[in-house]
Amino acid sequence: MDFHDLNYWQALARTCQPESRLFIRGEYQAAVGEALFVSENPATQQPLATVARGDKADVDRAVSAAREVFERGDWSLAAPSVRKTVLLRLADLLEQHHEELALLETLDTGKPIRHSLRDDIPGAWRAIRWYAEAIDKVYGEVAPTGGSELALITREPIGVIAAVVPWNFPLLLACWKLGPALAAGNSVVLKPSEKSSLTALRFAGLARQAGLPDGVLNVVPGFGDEAGQALARHPDVDVMTFTGSTRTAKQLLKDAGESNMKRVWLEAGGKSANIVFADCPDLRKAAAATAAGIFYNQGEVCIAGSRLLVEQSIADVFVNLLKAEARKWQPGEPLDPNTTQGTLIDNDHAEKVREFIRKGEARGNLLVLDGRLSPHPAAVGPTIFTDVDARDPLFLEEIFGPVLVVSRFKDEEEALALANHSDYGLGAAVWTQNLSRAHRMSRRLKAGSVFVNNYNDGDMTVPFGGYKQSGNGRDKSLHALEKFTELKTTWISLES
Ligand code: NAD
Repeated sequence: MDFHDLNYWQALARTCQPESRLFIRGEYQAAVGEALFVSENPATQQPLATVARGDKADVDRAVSAAREVFERGDWSLAAPSVRKTVLLRLADLLEQHHEELALLETLDTGKPIRHSLRDDIPGAWRAIRWYAEAIDKVYGEVAPTGGSELALITREPIGVIAAVVPWNFPLLLACWKLGPALAAGNSVVLKPSEKSSLTALRFAGLARQAGLPDGVLNVVPGFGDEAGQALARHPDVDVMTFTGSTRTAKQLLKDAGESNMKRVWLEAGGKSANIVFADCPDLRKAAAATAAGIFYNQGEVCIAGSRLLVEQSIADVFVNLLKAEARKWQPGEPLDPNTTQGTLIDNDHAEKVREFIRKGEARGNLLVLDGRLSPHPAAVGPTIFTDVDARDPLFLEEIFGPVLVVSRFKDEEEALALANHSDYGLGAAVWTQNLSRAHRMSRRLKAGSVFVNNYNDGDMTVPFGGYKQSGNGRDKSLHALEKFTELKTTWISLES
């Protein structure tokens, strides 16, 4: 992959004219009320685009376009091999527009261009391609009933899916939902975060170019309490699939209950524990993975290993290794391909992260690395607190920034108790050479993904999602198809 240089990306950025209108029924268009909002580049603090501000009226139009095409069957009744062909074309188009999409993602979010190029955009096309290739290999079942009847068990598309996604991996996380939802034959209304609408809008045009029938994918950018809430309460949306904060996730459950009891699938917040035992096979490797596990993407990662639990006897050595690793993650110009950490999503969020640090320090926690020294208003560098008590908000609350809290433990039981002492349950890692301990811990950790001697391995073949208030259901893998299909049983009498 050619990462080019800063001049290359700056020149390209100057010519960038992002699409910023809604996409409904296969056409870009203004919002009904013609309302707009400004999307800023967090790195320059300059306006990047003036985006159509969708509201209830736009959501109504998008849902009815999605419903109409679903009932007509252009896509929902098309052979899986037909859907596969279109989605494979779409994956190819995403790949062809790799640089354009990576640039948009970096300009819109402040994440390093290196990571948009290497992770976000390839991750998006891999998700679309994976479900395209999978969908004509999914079989129904014949139940082992008695001889006088035949019972067929089949999976059907559900109808209209609302997909509401956050700003930390905008296109990638959207594609984890769009891949299985579209491959299964549903229609979708996608609402990107108001802080990162641009790749979703570009994606819609590419989907049309690939041959997706009009109305099957609609994109309504806008705010959570307007377009988002209108989708959540809409009586004709069958499924809400969401990635975002636990606070919003809880609201969506209420909205579903008070409207049409739509199914609600939630990928929410996290406060994942990364547990390093004294018999860790390679402390240097563990320190590098621990730093990447919290400082990558400026710490704006749901599964960030934000709580480091380290065995007492190696704690000081390990924290020193970690401080050295943290130097590799200093904030820089996001368009420079050598930059490993960009800016946070906006000044408000950066201020919130700084406030966590300020208050954490004021409560007496030991600040051994202070990321507030960065001069950029939207940037916070790697920050480490040590000897944090499990009752402290630093230990309990999701900060969603590059802030690592370290606590010491004396034995396996204490490590386990500390790890599970959280409202969240997205990920957990265990570093040990003891195979039995790795399995013991894995069984008892309340987390959707457990990593042994790595942090955050991932692949499209493996489900991703959380226990407890980190959510329900799973993205990725064939398991995700369950969220976007209804199970139908058909009983056929064989009596003459
Ligand atoms: P957020 O909940 O504020 O917003 C997420 C999306 O929901 C946005 O599109 C927003 O406009 C919309 N929204 C907000 N209020 C709404 C409402 N009342 N009704 C409908 N939609 C509404 O989250 P965020 O700040 O964008 O993202 C950060 C959060 O996302 C963190 O908590 C992070 O852990 C979580 N996250 C989770 C995963 C995962 O897979 N579990 C992945 C990435 C991010």
